[in-house]
Amino acid sequence: MKTEIITIGDELLIGQTIDTNSAWIGSELSMAGFDVMKKTSIHDIRTDILNALSEAEGRSNVVIITGGLGPTSDDITKPALCDFFGTRLVINPEVLAMITEMMKRRNFPMNLNNRRQAEVPESCRVLTNAAGTAPGMWFERNGTIFISLPGVPSEMKYLMITHVLPELKQRFRSQAIIHRNIMTYGVPEALLAEKLEGFEAELPVGIKLAYLPSSGVIKLRLTGTGRDAVSVAKLVETRVRLLYSTIPDLIYGEEGETLEMAVGRLLREKGKTLGTAESCTGGNLARLITGIPGSSDYFVGSVVSYANHIKSKLLGVDDKLIENFGAVSEPVVIAMAEGARTVLSADYTIATSGIAGPDGGTEHKPVGTLWTAVSSASGTKAEMHTFGSDRLTNINRFSNVALNILRKQIIKD
Ligand code: AMP
Ligand code: MG
Repeated sequence: MKTEIITIGDELLIGQTIDTNSAWIGSELSMAGFDVMKKTSIHDIRTDILNALSEAEGRSNVVIITGGLGPTSDDITKPALCDFFGTRLVINPEVLAMITEMMKRRNFPMNLNNRRQAEVPESCRVLTNAAGTAPGMWFERNGTIFISLPGVPSEMKYLMITHVLPELKQRFRSQAIIHRNIMTYGVPEALLAEKLEGFEAELPVGIKLAYLPSSGVIKLRLTGTGRDAVSVAKLVETRVRLLYSTIPDLIYGEEGETLEMAVGRLLREKGKTLGTAESCTGGNLARLITGIPGSSDYFVGSVVSYANHIKSKLLGVDDKLIENFGAVSEPVVIAMAEGARTVLSADYTIATSGIAGPDGGTEHKPVGTLWTAVSSASGTKAEMHTFGSDRLTNINRFSNVALNILRKQIIKD
């Protein structure tokens, strides 16, 4: 069954409101086993609405429309729907009664605009909206169902959950769709794709692979589609196992697990503690780690040693190391991690020292350079990485590199 989504509103096109409706609707339709083929965002312009509706007719079985149902003159979806279906606006007595009652409860007088909200195209079926004033509207023509919903996300969701999804599920046989998300870290997308060339070539019909990268983490989404949920689940599971054996070192978790969650899980399993010594990440590592509920079980604290004299004063880094090698260097980051292990009495520490940018780079240490170290009872290990020039992107990437070398070390110890 083919579905598509049309979102209406000037604010969506000029970036004033982010179109969260289509993301939510897409996810719900897909989870219900319907194919989402297309989404379109358009202005509150009559001809644009009419064009979008006629393009969708015949192309999709179900078209879900949101926006433009407010009582003000900028909202013109209702008259446009009347044009499209060759019908006229009439007052719907039940909707009028509901709005009158709602206004009374809120102690507002009923005005002309409120009455206009009770107007609906004569040929539609009304979907009552207990979450607001604008009702939903259901039309059918030439094998296509058109459902128009308000733009207010809470009202749209109410109508989808109480009316639209139950009816669609009853009328259309949906297929089983199963998503599995495998979290990877360690190589860029292009290299990961190269490693998975064979895996992808052997994917059976009905299974798709998508790469979703963010700050160095690449989520691999495997999607299986078919008639029968049990056999699709089995098929996807086989491919997940194959993925584990193809790139064992790169997979750190599943579904939405972040690196800080994976690190927390490992520390808890081994009963070990962690502290951080942060220069260029400025406390971001501590923030990520403490964003996980229950992190007080393993996280002891952080020294945000941004200035050189704090590195020496609080972490005991020898001034001479900083003088001879610079703050962004292997000896300094190692001394930071080891100093923090003493000061914080933690089983593991990670340290970062780098150049987040956009300024401050040199020929030998360009913007985006990171030295990071992990220290534990089994020793201290440092790595150097180089990224781009955007400051916040770098801080996120630096943090993930540090979390990953920590993760590998905990597994090894
Ligand atoms: P409307 O029904 O066009 O009057 O929209 C009512 C409210 O819902 C406005 O504040 C819009 O910014 C918001 N809205 C409309 N469409 C969307 C959408 N696709 N995603 C998120 N919010 C929306
Ligand atoms: Mg609008």
